[in-house]
Amino acid sequence: MSTNLSRRRFLQTASVALALIPLVVIRPARANTNASVRARLKYQNAPNNDMSCASCLEFIPGKTDKDLGGCRVIPGDDEIAPNAYCTSWNTM
Ligand code: SF4
Repeated sequence: MSTNLSRRRFLQTASVALALIPLVVIRPARANTNASVRARLKYQNAPNNDMSCASCLEFIPGKTDKDLGGCRVIPGDDEIAPNAYCTSWNTM
């Protein structure tokens, strides 16, 4: 009787563990934004005349020209739009 209970408990635990593996392994990458630095630099999701992240030396491009990327002055943020702008824009 006790052996059946142990076996049942083991099988239940194992099946739960197996069901959770895909959730751990296939978890999508999470996007990060740095709201405090964005606010300090007045980040906006639109260019300022002809100034945009795509033409800024601080921009770290994404996979394609239109993908979101990063910025050297906004650490930990991988949601920088090529068409965005902030007050740290520079080309020097
Ligand atoms: S410094 Fe500002 S303008 Fe330049 S890439 Fe970063 S967020 Fe865009």
